[in-house]
Amino acid sequence: MTPRFTDARLEQFREQLRAERESTVRLMAGLGEDIRRIVDARQDSNVDDEHDPEGSTIAFERSQSDALLRQSRDKLSQITAALSRLDAGSFGVCESCGRDIPEARLVARPSASLCVDCASRA
Ligand SMILES: [Zn+2]
Repeated sequence: MTPRFTDARLEQFREQLRAERESTVRLMAGLGEDIRRIVDARQDSNVDDEHDPEGSTIAFERSQSDALLRQSRDKLSQITAALSRLDAGSFGVCESCGRDIPEARLVARPSASLCVDCASRA
């Protein structure tokens, strides 16, 4: 069986995934900073979340940052999984139906683990 991608092509995907991992880690560090800052602000102002308008803004900011942090964590685990698929030789194969994920999709999103059909059904 001929491998679908050349080693050089796989190396490009690996580079792309590493770059994405790096920027995601940096983003998460920034979000962690934001959350710490928000928590500090709340302690300083000693506000009542439910009745003080500033308190609810802080709570809103906090939940936004938390949501972003969760998204980034998911993205990071997808990137890590894609990197192990690269190592295992199963990169670019749909985890659900086992068909090849189109190369254009992998270029746009190298961390994709499902083909378009399976992703739209998920
Ligand atoms: Zn599929």
